[in-house]
Amino acid sequence: MGRVLVIGAGGVSTVAVKKMAMNADVFTEIMLASRTKSKCDKIAADIKNIQIQTRQVDADKVDELVSLFRSFQPDLVVNLALPYQDLSIMDACLQYGVSYLDTANYEPLDQAKYEYSWQWAYQEKFREAGLTAILGCGFDPGVTGVYTAYAAKHHFDEIQYLDIVDCNAGDHHKAFATNFNPEINIREITQRGKYYEDGVWKETDPLSVHQPIHYPEVGPRESYLMYHEELESLVKNFPTIRRARFWMTFGQEYLTHLRVMQNIGMTSIKPVLYKGVEIVPIQFLKAVLPDPGELGENYTGETSIGCRIRGLKDEKELTYYVYNNCSHQAAYKETGAQGVSYTTGVPAMIGAKLFLQGVWKKPGVYNTEEFNPDPFMKELNEQGLPWHEQFNINIEL
Ligand code: NDP
Repeated sequence: MGRVLVIGAGGVSTVAVKKMAMNADVFTEIMLASRTKSKCDKIAADIKNIQIQTRQVDADKVDELVSLFRSFQPDLVVNLALPYQDLSIMDACLQYGVSYLDTANYEPLDQAKYEYSWQWAYQEKFREAGLTAILGCGFDPGVTGVYTAYAAKHHFDEIQYLDIVDCNAGDHHKAFATNFNPEINIREITQRGKYYEDGVWKETDPLSVHQPIHYPEVGPRESYLMYHEELESLVKNFPTIRRARFWMTFGQEYLTHLRVMQNIGMTSIKPVLYKGVEIVPIQFLKAVLPDPGELGENYTGETSIGCRIRGLKDEKELTYYVYNNCSHQAAYKETGAQGVSYTTGVPAMIGAKLFLQGVWKKPGVYNTEEFNPDPFMKELNEQGLPWHEQFNINIEL
């Protein structure tokens, strides 16, 4: 049915490509291209039912991308490299004429700044070219947008309060490791907190606001308010929202390591000169930290991510919680990757599948909540990320 080109060969890509191969009736031709071809070959070697083509590409270079697109002629390009590559890949998609999907919004390399403005600026260009760009199609962002759209469509007349709660109750048995790309992860966590209330964005010191939240099957976990990119699109697309916040759990051990690394300058994105060579501390740190893709084997426990929503239905107040729990071990057994890569890679595959089927396809640049949530929710149940609903409970927030 469709030819898909996946760019990037890390943890998320490992899961997405393996899941695409499990849906080979839709993904009839798959090419995997990344900076390091041997990583593509390793993923391809595990897949037996269809042949995956592999290539080397530098996704910062538009010309290289365009000639790769010309040779493979994809129907969709799935960007599972890093957020730094979003704009060069979108430019190449426009130049060649192919639709686009990613899981994280663009960030400039020299500025830890998260906003959709850069990618939303492509709206007219994609619309005029008759191409679709699906932004942020992982779990958060991604499924959290679909959950919110589903709640708005089926359960609420008016969504007023939205809290996205992200718990990783897993244990990888390392003193310190990040669950996805360490550079992106640490940049995200060390920024100032931010949430939306009554039409304005309010800032907090990094990780300064926290409280215990109860997660299903997990129990209470200290959860920290932080800024997360989907808040920006959700308050725009659901203007009745009065307050939108994002919470993530961290263990004390993790926070202590992070604080030490910050205090000694290891998380800085400003280059320093070392023996005549310019190095960026956080990039060096990434090189010495465990590879998130290798954490799976000894990872126990589960993730629990969902949306807690308060609003009105038939003029009465309603509370609603929709969530998924994902076992690291089950994810590893199925795909060789841990739960955080799994919860991101599966939705990326589903978004790509719905695009190729013509279900999530419209000219322009869109976040996940701007599409029909129903087919995506159905696929989540069938592809390994089943969801659960609770109504009129104490949502704690
Ligand atoms: P990894 O660091 O494991 O993988 C990134 C891959 O991209 C690597 O294979 C890397 O190549 C490749 N790459 C980097 N730069 C280039 C380049 N210039 N040209 C070609 N390839 C390049 O990251 P993850 O798999 O953990 O994450 C992938 C994406 O998913 C990230 O954007 C991340 O922010 C996002 N994400 C989204 C989540 C969500 O819920 N929405 C949650 C988790 C992650 P090399 O192997 O040579 O380094």
